[in-house]
Amino acid sequence: MDGEGHDKLHALGWCVVTVGLAVGVLRGELDAAGALAMWAGYAAGRVLTPDLDLARSRAQRALRPVLPLRALGLAYARLFRHRGLSHWPIVGTLTRALWFMLPFAACAALLFGFHFSFPSLRLIALGFVGLCLADILHIAADVVTTRRWR
Ligand SMILES: [Zn+2]
Repeated sequence: MDGEGHDKLHALGWCVVTVGLAVGVLRGELDAAGALAMWAGYAAGRVLTPDLDLARSRAQRALRPVLPLRALGLAYARLFRHRGLSHWPIVGTLTRALWFMLPFAACAALLFGFHFSFPSLRLIALGFVGLCLADILHIAADVVTTRRWR
């Protein structure tokens, strides 16, 4: 599947995730902050996609406006082979989450100090789950469309 197809699928998935999280909050199964964290994690999957392993991908172009992200994206593409570790569910997501967020978290920690508490770690974990959902949808689309054409 090409980048445009992935973007459309991600948007469709985002609608499903939004409705699912809203239902979860309305039924009292999830608090609003947790739902928002998962929703934001899924949204981040639009930019932090597994196809960042391609230097000339649509995902890399999305990073262009922010120079530090662009530099990190190109370095990620050099380090990770296309559809290699970056396209593994959860593990690939973890590589991108750490690759792109640790530098900013380290800067924030140096500027503002370390103030991590359990609620914030819980929200980070829920955001990661949302990002994993976006990646799993991407990887499943790659698998299905690749097999279809062979
Ligand atoms: Zn892909």
